[in-house]
Amino acid sequence: MPTFRDLLATAKSQIREVDTAEAERLVAERPGAVVVDVREADEYEQGALPEAVHIPRGFLESQIENKMADHDAPLVVYCAGGTRSAFAARTLGELGYTDVVSVAGGFNKWKNEGRTWTTPRTLSPEQRNRYQRHLLLPEVGDEGQQKLLDAKVLLLGAGGLGSPAALYLAAAGVGTLGIIDMDVVDESNLQRQILHNLDRIGDRKVDSAKKTLTALNPDVNVVTYDVRLGADNVLDVIDGYDVIVDGTDNFPTRYLVNDASLVKRIPVVHGSIFRFEGQATVFNPYVGPCYRCLIPEPPPADLAPSCAEAGVLGVLPGIVGSIQAMEAIKIILGLGEPLVGRLLAYDALEESFRSFKVPRDPQCPACGPDAGEIVIAEYDELCMPHPRSAA
Ligand SMILES: [Zn+2]
Repeated sequence: MPTFRDLLATAKSQIREVDTAEAERLVAERPGAVVVDVREADEYEQGALPEAVHIPRGFLESQIENKMADHDAPLVVYCAGGTRSAFAARTLGELGYTDVVSVAGGFNKWKNEGRTWTTPRTLSPEQRNRYQRHLLLPEVGDEGQQKLLDAKVLLLGAGGLGSPAALYLAAAGVGTLGIIDMDVVDESNLQRQILHNLDRIGDRKVDSAKKTLTALNPDVNVVTYDVRLGADNVLDVIDGYDVIVDGTDNFPTRYLVNDASLVKRIPVVHGSIFRFEGQATVFNPYVGPCYRCLIPEPPPADLAPSCAEAGVLGVLPGIVGSIQAMEAIKIILGLGEPLVGRLLAYDALEESFRSFKVPRDPQCPACGPDAGEIVIAEYDELCMPHPRSAA
């Protein structure tokens, strides 16, 4: 029966070991070199090598391929003293990784020698529990959840579309949610605006939204704007946000937001609803089409009924607003194919989705190559421009 010392000696004879100085040189000089920390979570949280990928030894076999697809990438594996990393390096060799070294002396020696290390940002135990179903997805994981927590999404409207979008974004842990709305909660809103409830009738919608979202997830900082979005404030309000979720129901605001988002280069997740039909798309400035590429001129006011007049089936905004939340999260995480250059159309009566390609318009007056400088202007109810400069 071999002893632990025998096993360790055997493992070390089958791997390549480097000292800390050699490891440091390797990381600095080998392109694509990846540092793998195989210690336990509590050790990692106290301090780790910069940019280290953390996979505890016990999860190495099950997780490494998700995190490291390239089997020929140079891997520098360390633990606290060099024992666990020796066994880990051998396992990685058995899994087909061709270029693996174990750091003799490990993190303790590295730190004692005064080499660079950092305290990694980690999720709290409460966050680890709350976002467990995200963390189980390798495409999200700790890194993706941190991205969500760092992200800032601005919701235009706390109404039918803004309600489900805000609830899902808050639940997902998007760290900053801005909400702009200057309405008060009315009983007739409750048929679809699920951020609000009977106790909030007469309250400012932004205050009601903040109460609901904060009660759902204390990680979320809700920033409220109880103002009318206009040419004088739009650039300031949207500044610093990563994504705008547009739940407005009128053409003037859509044009205003489109032009401002082009100036600030912030993607807009657009949603709209009418009776039994909904639409969603993503306007990614200068990458895909903008709102004006689709609708260069507003329709005459009598052909563009606002939501105040048109009926809408209550669940419909729930579906379209949820799609908007999904697209916002995909943009933040860089996941999948966002609805850029595609218009998704939902028909509730048919219960069908159709997707249409929408190209950029080379003649677009806002984002086309010959478009002049964008002037942020206001549009009245007749959708006529009031050229009023933002500056
Ligand atoms: Zn355009």
